[in-house]
Amino acid sequence: MKEKIIEEIFRLKEQRRAIIISHNYQREEVQDIADFVGDSLELSRQAASVDCDVIVFCGVNFMAESASILSPEKTVLLPSLDANCPMADMVRVSGTRKVWKTFPGYEVQPTFVFPHDFTLIDMKRQYPGVPVVAYVNTTADVKAESDICCTSANVVKVVESLPEDRVICIPDRNLSAWAQRNTGKEIITWDGFCHVHDRVRAEDVERARKGHPEALVMAHPECRLEVLERADHVTSTSGMLRFARQSDAREFIVGTEVGLLHRLRKENPDKVFYPLRKDMICPNMKKTTLEKVLWALKEMKNEIKVPEDIRVRAVTALDRMLKIK
Ligand code: SF4
Repeated sequence: MKEKIIEEIFRLKEQRRAIIISHNYQREEVQDIADFVGDSLELSRQAASVDCDVIVFCGVNFMAESASILSPEKTVLLPSLDANCPMADMVRVSGTRKVWKTFPGYEVQPTFVFPHDFTLIDMKRQYPGVPVVAYVNTTADVKAESDICCTSANVVKVVESLPEDRVICIPDRNLSAWAQRNTGKEIITWDGFCHVHDRVRAEDVERARKGHPEALVMAHPECRLEVLERADHVTSTSGMLRFARQSDAREFIVGTEVGLLHRLRKENPDKVFYPLRKDMICPNMKKTTLEKVLWALKEMKNEIKVPEDIRVRAVTALDRMLKIK
């Protein structure tokens, strides 16, 4: 059955001149059929450089939007239309922000309180002249309203590149704390977070180290500062892949969404990887299945298209970031 679905996906992929790209946090079977696996921006840039008509983006909605921003002439499909990023959804440019709900099934529930009607426009009014740095994990309209984008890998460089001493960073308070710690700037942060990374605590690092005393701890900057301070290496998912490949160590504790372990193990069969917490699972990232990929390709449904006026402003914020060496 699974083989038949994969066969049909490959047949349609050729017929539609499509490529399949998968985020590092996707299900293993989805990663395995993808032409490229990586982090969101890396994938969107790759997709823009490939000669194809259709991009099937196995990830969450802001990622498909980024692909559409960088490849406006291509058809971008998101196999699971309800795959959203709760952190990206914590910021609204204007209007009423979606009410934040908890995630059933997890022992650590995020508590998140700020006025539901507070918007990015309100924040800009409150701090006139202060530049806005938007993490790539934001929706297209938020990027369009920002001065420059950043990734988890380059946030320090981006913040340092700005002439102002005060900078607004959205939406992740943990990434903001990391930027503040590593730059001389005052960071004004949005109070957002990724529930997958934010649930990790200092005790989790200590427990993992006790269990695997030889292992090096890698942590994603979306984790809390108390976790980052205890890690051996703080880096993005691409940085973790690089670090694991180049390091002489044989064992690693991985402080990010568990989907990355599949690629780490595949690329480093002689090394051992442990999740920092087994419940670092993003339910939205797991919504994409092989069946949904097949359906999207067959029906050419779930197209993500960013309106041109927003796209042009969002691409400016992305381009500013890409110019920073
Ligand atoms: S892992 Fe976190 S940042 Fe990534 S899509 Fe899930 S909720 Fe959003």
